[in-house]
Amino acid sequence: MSLRRHLRRIRCPECGGQTSVRTSRMLSSTCKEARHQCTACQNEFRSLTPIEIELVRVAVPKPSTLLPLAKRKRTPPATAQPHSA
Ligand SMILES: [Zn+2]
Repeated sequence: MSLRRHLRRIRCPECGGQTSVRTSRMLSSTCKEARHQCTACQNEFRSLTPIEIELVRVAVPKPSTLLPLAKRKRTPPATAQPHSA
């Protein structure tokens, strides 16, 4: 899901209605601010979306944006069952 689509899915805290993103901007390389307007009651509010952790690191991170890397669940390797004598 794209960030814009994610931001559109944020519900109005007053009435629970759908919202649209009025404006958005990156506050830093790991945090986005968005202004939302409810399509039902016209309430306006602001949200912050931080990027907290990387799930898969595919590039060498810049020191300024070094985020923790998620711990992966390890599955035990498949082992052959020993034959009984
Ligand atoms: Zn509303």
